[in-house]
Amino acid sequence: MIPFNKPYLTGKEAHYIYQAVYSLKISGNGMFTKRCQAFFENIYGFKKCLLTTSCTDALEMTALLMELKKGDQIILPSYTFVSTANAFVLHGADLVFADSEKETPNIDAEGIEELITPKTKAIVVVHYGGVACDMEKIMNIANKHHLFVIEDAAHAIDSYYKNKPLGSFGHFATFSFHETKNITSGEGGMLVINDERFIERAEIIWEKGTNRAAFFRGEVDKYNWVDIGSSYLPSEVVAAFLYAQIENLQDIQNKRKEIWNYYFERLKPLEKEGFISLPFIPAHCWQNGHLFYVTLKNINQRLSFIDFLKQKGIQTVFHYLSLHNSPFYKNKHDGRKLVFSDQYSDLLTRLPLFYELGISEQEYICKSINSFFIK
Ligand SMILES: *Cc1c(COP(=O)(O)O)cnc(C)c1O
Repeated sequence: MIPFNKPYLTGKEAHYIYQAVYSLKISGNGMFTKRCQAFFENIYGFKKCLLTTSCTDALEMTALLMELKKGDQIILPSYTFVSTANAFVLHGADLVFADSEKETPNIDAEGIEELITPKTKAIVVVHYGGVACDMEKIMNIANKHHLFVIEDAAHAIDSYYKNKPLGSFGHFATFSFHETKNITSGEGGMLVINDERFIERAEIIWEKGTNRAAFFRGEVDKYNWVDIGSSYLPSEVVAAFLYAQIENLQDIQNKRKEIWNYYFERLKPLEKEGFISLPFIPAHCWQNGHLFYVTLKNINQRLSFIDFLKQKGIQTVFHYLSLHNSPFYKNKHDGRKLVFSDQYSDLLTRLPLFYELGISEQEYICKSINSFFIK
């Protein structure tokens, strides 16, 4: 069986974890946490990075930083993971779901402005598969209406829009280091704060509402309860794991891009003949090989496609059922039809993509896909 995903170990994980454990500084915000944060700040120019226990928690921190209150509205795509929505619902927000673009699963920037009301607080975008949303248009809309922008960049480490790294556009951005993402610590995430006005408060919220981080830097002489907060920082054991992955980031990205490009070239003829659609990458986007998908013609065909490949020993998956149709939210949604979000929900299928996927396995996958369409 060729699995859909297989986590990749660079080889240094256990070594760094050993170091973290025997340094006897194993709680959060120690040497490995600082190293990871400094790495991302230095290479991507993010103003401030805080490692978190997950991307979900980083998103929740943005809800606290925006001082979200009941009745505030958040504009976000319907085609996304539940965490993008839950973080804000937890703090009383109403969700205003936007449709995807026709060409990509990303939020359709053209449709955002008409969703803005006096209650709108923020636009949350998801860079699906590490392919940038139209950030120029989205930042212009947000600035015009004085809205926050949060980039859910869970897929998007080391991706670019007009040569600028994703995660550097919004007031805040969140990354995931879950096992299924390009670099991982099992569970883990990161909050990026690009608007400097929020750095100090973010650190306090991160550390249970205390000024502990400032205390350890010697900036205050005692640490105290100064604000709301929670425990959002991972232990040094987690950060040590992540550090081993970070050191190999470029190697991992290169390999994933290679695999992505192979699929793209090899499956192009099927697209030309009208059997499937392949991902569309707008000209100004540099994507990171996070995932590869094909889009089929109808939901029944997708079912038999997945089944056919399973018989061949190949695991493929679909994901993201439109959130506006979910059991939890469908009665709260305002009833607008979100055609492209539903289309991606019904038709998109992800192919195996992981570091150790071999060329012969990839060739076998592509041959099997061909034989599904051309008998
Ligand atoms: C994976 C993912 C998340 C959640 O990440 P965790 O680190 O597991 O909390 C959020 N948003 C998107 C788009 C994701 O793909």
